[in-house]
Amino acid sequence: MGKRAVKALRAAADLVWPADCAGCGRELANPLCPSCRLALLGPVERREQGAPRLVPADGGPALPTWSSAWYSGEVRRAIVAWKRQGRGELEHELRRAIARTAEAVARVLAPVSREVAVVPVPSRLVRRLTRRFAGTAVLAVAATQALAGAGLEASYADVLRRTATSREQTGRSLRERAAGREGTTLVKRLPPAPCLLVDDVLTTGASLLDAERALARAGGATLGAVVLAVSPAAASHLGMVADTGAGPAWVARRMS
Ligand SMILES: [Zn+2]
Repeated sequence: MGKRAVKALRAAADLVWPADCAGCGRELANPLCPSCRLALLGPVERREQGAPRLVPADGGPALPTWSSAWYSGEVRRAIVAWKRQGRGELEHELRRAIARTAEAVARVLAPVSREVAVVPVPSRLVRRLTRRFAGTAVLAVAATQALAGAGLEASYADVLRRTATSREQTGRSLRERAAGREGTTLVKRLPPAPCLLVDDVLTTGASLLDAERALARAGGATLGAVVLAVSPAAASHLGMVADTGAGPAWVARRMS
């Protein structure tokens, strides 16, 4: 058999038996082995301190962002596998993770607002090009169901849209691209309640910041965000990643 035939056969076999754990690639587990699942389902806590773009220049508080995992190692590989391969079983695991985080966050949000609009942060073009990847919408739907299950009046609100195209970004420097992202998130309609943003990962925080600013310009309030995993790059000190809590007073101040 030629190389191409072997590759095709292997791909076909993977469809029937996607046997390797999407996180570590070692264990025979579909889609995650217990160890990798544990890494994904860590303690639900605020992890926004490591995202440089989320911290306002005026030194004000960053957007509270809750997550149960760091975007590294097996968690990173699993999320990348989900985005590139669209493995359905993996989506189930990730939906469960974001729902678990949202359920924990419901306790923090409840004293502030019983009504919450759950807003998916629009995927970048490169992700949308992967046809089978449903973007952050499926995560936001799972989060909505979890919040509703926890007693909040939660509604899924797909109100944001990205305008930049990859063509506009091609050939531009990183700095230009970062600047180009400013204001590229548009609000299609005003969400029906204070918002909880949902994204897959938090790295620099640029996407969440864009979304929050766009909503604010349209007159909407953002309570915080939930993501699957947060890049630990800038949160190198344990003290930075401790749960600082999200006091209702803080959120109320932000909303006013
Ligand atoms: Zn594993």
